[in-house]
Parts: sequence; C-alpha cells; structure tokens
Amino acid sequence: MTAIATPLPEDIQAVRDGVLEFARAEVLPRHAANRALFENPRALFREDGRLCDEALALVREVRMAAAKAGFYSMSVPEELGGAGFGMLAYYVCWEALFRTCGPSNWLMLYAISHWAFGPSKVLERVTPKARDEILGPMMAGEQSMCFGLSEPGAGSDASKLTTKAVADGDGWRISGRKIWTTNSPVADYCTVFARTESGEGSGISAFLVPTSSPGFHVERIIKMFGSIGGDEAELRLEDVRVEPWQLVGALHQGFATAIYGVSIGRIYNSARAVGYGRWALEVALEHAKTREAFGKPIAEYQGVSFPLAESAMELHAAHLMGLNAAGLLDQGAPAVKELSMTKAYSVEIGVRAVDRAMQAHGAMGFTNEMHLVEAWHSLRAVNVADGTNEILRRTIAQRLLKGDVEV
Ligand SMILES: Cc1cc2nc3c(=O)[nH]c(=O)nc-3n(C[C@H](O)[C@H](O)[C@H](O)COP(=O)(O)OP(=O)(O)OC[C@H]3O[C@@H](n4cnc5c(N)ncnc54)[C@H](O)[C@@H]3O)c2cc1C
Repeated sequence: MTAIATPLPEDIQAVRDGVLEFARAEVLPRHAANRALFENPRALFREDGRLCDEALALVREVRMAAAKAGFYSMSVPEELGGAGFGMLAYYVCWEALFRTCGPSNWLMLYAISHWAFGPSKVLERVTPKARDEILGPMMAGEQSMCFGLSEPGAGSDASKLTTKAVADGDGWRISGRKIWTTNSPVADYCTVFARTESGEGSGISAFLVPTSSPGFHVERIIKMFGSIGGDEAELRLEDVRVEPWQLVGALHQGFATAIYGVSIGRIYNSARAVGYGRWALEVALEHAKTREAFGKPIAEYQGVSFPLAESAMELHAAHLMGLNAAGLLDQGAPAVKELSMTKAYSVEIGVRAVDRAMQAHGAMGFTNEMHLVEAWHSLRAVNVADGTNEILRRTIAQRLLKGDVEV
C-alpha cells in the first residue's frame, strides 16, 4: 500500500531498501548487544561530556561498514568517489532510516554521511591538496568533521560573525569563538568560517582546519535537555595557522558554502521530522489498539484517535513537501522558498506528532523505555538548528514579496 501517487525511480527504491537492510544487519544488532552501555548515561559519557571510547568505536565501526557497503557516501559526487545520488535519494533514505530505526537505535545516524560531519557535495569546493589529504579517510568513514559557523554573538544573523582570519605570509591566522558546533568534540576537521576582510558586508571565507591544530580548543561540551553529555561544543581558536590549500571555495565567498551546506541540512532535517513523526504515529496506533480504558481499547475514543488522524494528515503533507523540495533541488532549482517551507513545516508537525503519541500513551509516554522523549528532544532542537522556524518564515516572506508567489 502506498499513499503517494508518483512511484520513486527504481534506483532510489533499491538504495532505500539497501540502506534499511544495512541498518538491520549493522545497526540494530549493535544496539541489542550494547543495550547496557547505551541505557546507562554514566557509562556512555565521559566526565567531560564526550561519548566514551567504546561508543565512539561503535560509531566508527558503523560509519566504516556503511562506507564499505557504499551507503555512507551515496550522495557524494561520482568524481569524488561517491555514488552520485541526489537529494531525492538522500531524503528518501534518511526518512526511511528514521522511521524504521526510531530514536533509540541512534547508530543509524552514521549509515549515511551527514553533510557537516562527513563527505558531501561540499567537498567539491576543497582544493586538490585537501582532497588528497582528507578524501580517503573521510570517504572510508575513518575520520569525521564539523561545521563551525555559529558564534556566541552571531546565530540567526551568522553573517555578523567576528572570527577573523588575518593574512600571515601566504596563509592566515584564525582567532575567534564558535558555539553549538555539532560533532566538534570528536571530529578530525572543522570547516571554520572566518572574516577575511574587515568592514560592513565584508568577505567571509571557509577553511578546513584539523582539530589537532595548535590553538584549536574545545572549550566545553554543551549539555542540553538534561543530558549529562552531548555532541555540541563551544570552540576557541587562537592564532590557528591555515595554508592556502585549506581554503574551501573562493576567498571571501565562504558564506555561499555555508548556505549550500545548510540547504542539504534542511533536507536531512525534514526527513528526520517526517521519519520520527511516522515512527511515533505507528507506535501510538499500536498502543491505542491494545490499551483498554472504560471497557474498550482507547482507539475507540475519538479523543484518542482524532489527534492521530491529525498527525497522519500533517505527516502526509510534510512527506510530499519533502519529496517535492528534494526533486526541485535535483532539477537544479535553488528552491529557497520551497525548502524553507518544507523544513519549517516538517519539524513543527514532527514535534506535534511525537507529542500526540506521548499523550496517547498516558504516563508511559514519558518513560525512557518508550524513547518518545528522545524523538521529541531531537525534533524540538531541530526547530532551531539549520535556521529557526522564524528565520525560515522570514525567508519565505522575502521570496513572496519579491514576486516568487508560486505555491
Ligand atoms: C542541536 C543544535 C545543533 C547545532 N549545530 C550547529 C553546528 O553544527 N554548527 C553551527 O555553526 N551551528 C549549529 N547550531 C546553531 C544554530 O545554527 C543556531 O542556534 C541558529 O542559527 C539560531 O541562532 P541562535 O541560537 O543564536 O538564536 P538567535 O539568533 O539568538 O535567535 C533567538 C530567537 O530570535 C529569533 N529571531 C532572530 N532573528 C529574527 C528575525 N529577524 N525575525 C524573527 N525572529 C528572529 C530566532 O528565531 C530565535 O527564536 C546548532 C543548533 C542546535 C540547536
């Protein structure tokens, strides 16, 4: 049974089925075998908030197995050694992974390379020497990276960032602070965005910086939603030397690279919201059919079933929007408005779907064992990451007012 009239191309169906098979073979068994570790935050995280070595080894194992199986770099261009799939395949595969694995089997996050943490189309912009240096270990899943754009004083308005790259011989020295940089506590490289010209509206450049560089400091792991560890950190760069080969894209044009990457992130997060939303809806339906109150299954009360019907309507709409936005990107359209609408709508309705599933479970909905709380946390944060819902509305309104009124 399908709810969508246009069938997916056969190669996309095949890669989706393949990545799900991979998750069943390489992700689910690892979670089953390491349940005691994963369910004990005191063992899972080190004192400083980083994942423990055992968990990091599992992450690396999954990344490397996915690379070997060909899924990890599925959306990396063929010239760089990837499978060359576009955004539609990326959306479809991520949505299927999130829906099938749910929030508890989080090692699935490493089955496909996330654009900011591993190889992606963004690497087309690195220099030939950088390709020689990083492409091999990055494509093999041995190493990872992170994306250093946001700063304590520049979030939504990232173009106001103050990290500076000051010319030093034929290279630069970078100084400044970054915040919320996901994966930075364990990454091998960071794409650092820094100002290379001074003055209003001046140029920002992107640099590939090894996190082992002298002067590159992970100041603290940022803990969110009551967790004792996390993936986000605050960074301090102090006179970090970079050479011309470390430049990503053209000098002073780094902001375009940031926007390009964030667009891939918006497709990923739209898929995450629909995938988790569908997972939560299915969990809630199962519960509602079996849980009884006042002599019958609670599914027979419209107070329980109608909110789930509401979720289904919203998820269906968001799913179609995601497929459409990804398809437009694959046709070469910038799809700025469509992508903004899709990401904002998907993450809002994804959170609502999880919230309704919690309500349908009663007290069970808030327990750790149901994992609904993890899905809620994950999607609630995505209402801010990769462009807040307000900034996305601002973009949509700007496009509409410029005459882009097609909907
Ligand atoms: C889980 C997570 C992971 C992240 N990972 C990364 C990462 O890897 N790398 C990275 O560089 N950054 C990352 N970020 C940072 C993220 O990009 C910023 O949080 C985001 O851009 C918002 O910036 P801010 O938090 O400073 O909020 P602010 O910009 O301070 O905004 C505060 C509030 O004001 C609203 N607001 C601001 N301007 C307007 C306006 N013009 N109109 C209406 N409302 C407005 C915002 O929508 C928001 O509600 C991550 C964030 C999260 C939550």
